[in-house]
Amino acid sequence: MEVQLDIRKFSDWEIGNTDKPFLIAGPCSAETEEQTLKSAHELNRLGIQVFRAGIWKPRTRPNSFEGVGSKGLKWLKKVKKETGMLTSTEVANVKHVYESLRAGVDILWIGARTSANPFAMQEIADALQGMDIPVFVKNPVNPDADLWLGAIERLQKAGISRIGAIHRGFSSFDHSIYRNPPSWQIPIELKRRIPDLPIICDPSHIGGKRELLQSISQKAMDLNYDGLMIESHPDPDNAWSDAQQQVSAASLQVIIESLVLRQVKPEGISYDTLEDLRFKIDKYDNELLDILQKRMEVAESIGAYKKKSNMTILQPNRWEEVVENSLVKGRKRDLSDRFTSKIFKAIHEESISKQTAIMNGLPKLNGSSKTS
Ligand code: PEP
Ligand code: MN
Repeated sequence: MEVQLDIRKFSDWEIGNTDKPFLIAGPCSAETEEQTLKSAHELNRLGIQVFRAGIWKPRTRPNSFEGVGSKGLKWLKKVKKETGMLTSTEVANVKHVYESLRAGVDILWIGARTSANPFAMQEIADALQGMDIPVFVKNPVNPDADLWLGAIERLQKAGISRIGAIHRGFSSFDHSIYRNPPSWQIPIELKRRIPDLPIICDPSHIGGKRELLQSISQKAMDLNYDGLMIESHPDPDNAWSDAQQQVSAASLQVIIESLVLRQVKPEGISYDTLEDLRFKIDKYDNELLDILQKRMEVAESIGAYKKKSNMTILQPNRWEEVVENSLVKGRKRDLSDRFTSKIFKAIHEESISKQTAIMNGLPKLNGSSKTS
């Protein structure tokens, strides 16, 4: 089901409406009054308009720094007074919401562990009922576009009209260069479902280390994200939380200044050429589908043959031969092994399910099936 949400732009700061990315920066955690203000002044000099700092920190394990708590809200107030920047912090429960609103925090965000929990989301949405405050929703820790969308819907139903999404990557058991692998197809799917939803990227929590910030931020810009939330600390190596991924204001400046910004529809270029190329792509996609259809018809005939001869569907030697041959042929066509094996794995899976259906006389499955 397609959900149509009425999401107004963050018009006060024209998020999504300017050529410049919307930037939020600040430390992972407010640690001391001095560190918070130092960070804010440094970032203000860079022209950052929104300051972030975690006051209550959701830590994976106990006995790590869990944030300074309510007293840090006074420091945010001071940041606002001294720099004129807007302030933002994470809220994970009703108490956080009330205290932040009372302290005049300008923008709230919901963390990844909270957006994964519909009960917590509903309680926060109820507490925010009728409030006129912008709220960003980080993606849930688990890679589920529906859960992310659900969290956004709960806020929208509570009357929050300025909602944005923050892509911070997804927990994964697999070893990866990323702390939280980005799985870009999930935010792309969210954007497809709610085209007007502003979306910003949090390369700090995706990357987990400062060396990755530049490339992740650039990728977000290439995908037409509306902005970035980046963790910055006056003394990153000695930060009380997420030290490896925080950068000094000077390094942040380098990252921002080297971003290449692109436009969806730049002026003064020929769209005829792009249209021609897209026409070719559509034509090849149709040919690909025709060939896949023919291939599956052959697979069905093979299924019928195996049924008659009482052979197993899976013939490991034959399959290994197919994979090996396709990798060699793919390389000659400049296709990566990763790509070729992914495609052939998908073809094989489909072929096996077609053959299984033939063997067991199951009805044909068409289209997609979706669980709730
Ligand atoms: C954070 O922004 O500091 C944070 C805890 O983020 P996340 O919810 O993405 O883990
Ligand atoms: Mn952090």
